[in-house]
Amino acid sequence: LLEIRDVSVEFGGGRRWKAVTHDVTLSVAPGETVALVGESGSGKSVTAMAILDLLPANARRTGSILLDGEELVGAGEKRLRQVRGNDVAVIFQEPMTALNPVYTIGHHLVEAIRSHRDVSKADAEVRAVELLRQVHMPEPETKVKHYPHQLSGGQRQRAMIAMAMASEPRLLIADEPTTALDVTVQAEILDLVRELQQRTGMSVLIITHDMGVVADVADRVVVMRDGRVVESAPARELFARPRHEYTQALLAAVP
Ligand code: ATP
Ligand code: MG
Repeated sequence: LLEIRDVSVEFGGGRRWKAVTHDVTLSVAPGETVALVGESGSGKSVTAMAILDLLPANARRTGSILLDGEELVGAGEKRLRQVRGNDVAVIFQEPMTALNPVYTIGHHLVEAIRSHRDVSKADAEVRAVELLRQVHMPEPETKVKHYPHQLSGGQRQRAMIAMAMASEPRLLIADEPTTALDVTVQAEILDLVRELQQRTGMSVLIITHDMGVVADVADRVVVMRDGRVVESAPARELFARPRHEYTQALLAAVP
């Protein structure tokens, strides 16, 4: 489904550029859940943002990104918007950056639904509540009327997931919130992603720095360190026989 080959991302401008990821290669097969792990600053989010060209303006990327064999590097903005609205959905690490404070949760959802499918506003409003129910949002009928700041961090994350699911994506890229949410809420969000994966059969690329949770959800694990992939293996194999010393250190740190 998705193949990333030798993707490097640099930040800077003019004649000064600094590489933060180096020749990252990974793939996600249909229906597969791949976990991208590594410590803070290892380049996980940058890699995720590079996939759909969502990097900030002071970044540039090289390499190849194939979706069903179609090259996305160099594809026009129009094509990328189609991919974002249909095939691939991205959930950001910081939900507030993707939610507009002046619009209600319901408005966000209706927009997401209608950008994907030609349905009436009334139908989209019904579907919005349904999506919130699917992500186990408490009191979905009320929450559609709320603004982003009126939700808790975990609820905002659920709203983001509902928005992502609005386009019935074949691939969900989820950058797991790290510091923003407490451990219990993080585990709930992960459970939810797993549940949605199983129900829809979509592929998932989940980004986390927590090896403990990876064992439960991932089919395959890709380990990053200092902007490089140091190991990539089926989850079972990686947990039984980690080859790279960095992976061994990560696993040793799991309680
Ligand atoms: P975390 O687990 O903390 O989210 P991460 O693995 O997602 O970490 P990235 O956000 O991908 O890490 O960052 C990788 C590197 O890229 C870091 O050294 C970071 O400082 C750098 N970086 C990220 N965004 C920018 C930016 N907008 N401008 C310059 N450098 C950046
Ligand atoms: Mg990150």
